[in-house]
Amino acid sequence: MTIRIKKGKAVKNIISAVEELAGVDLSECYQCKKCSCGCPVSGHTKSPPSEIIRRLQLGAGDEILSSDIIWICSSCETCFARCPMGIDMASVMDALRVLAVKRQAAKPKGDIPLFNRAFLKTVNMFGRTYDLVMIAAYKMGTLTFMNDMDKFPSMLKKRKIAILPPRGADKKTVKRIFDSVSHK
Ligand code: SF4
Ligand code: SF4
Repeated sequence: MTIRIKKGKAVKNIISAVEELAGVDLSECYQCKKCSCGCPVSGHTKSPPSEIIRRLQLGAGDEILSSDIIWICSSCETCFARCPMGIDMASVMDALRVLAVKRQAAKPKGDIPLFNRAFLKTVNMFGRTYDLVMIAAYKMGTLTFMNDMDKFPSMLKKRKIAILPPRGADKKTVKRIFDSVSHK
């Protein structure tokens, strides 16, 4: 496969920002491709994980932020488990997502940002996901109160959704994590 690299002003920033955010040293990767061979989404992307690292090593610019794998990666960490150099590829993907949003290389569609905010808000408040409140917040934001309401009784019956908030969460720790990342 031919790898096209565009050099630009952002070159240094991208690789150093990824290394800093992910806490990895990308120069340690020697392209054994064990990560790509084990990656469950390699066959559905134009750039498997080892290629992403190679492109970064070669000085890829902002164009790497539009790679489809950034959003297809399921953070399963198979790549991390297989990597002989211990490179945390899932964190590299997280870092690329952060940079893609920061640099507006990614434009989330529709109500996805609202859904994400509703999800994170409930985790911040309750220490775990609380689907009922999250769905209510999402419906209020999208004005879709009655959509899918017919499924609610059967979800309740099958215990797929709980009326009461989650119990046993370590709220203090979760709050501390949210506070620490919100100051970055
Ligand atoms: S964490 Fe992402 S890149 Fe790594 S194996 Fe899983 S899906 Fe692939
Ligand atoms: S498994 Fe590790 S060393 Fe091998 S290509 Fe992937 S990131 Fe590089």
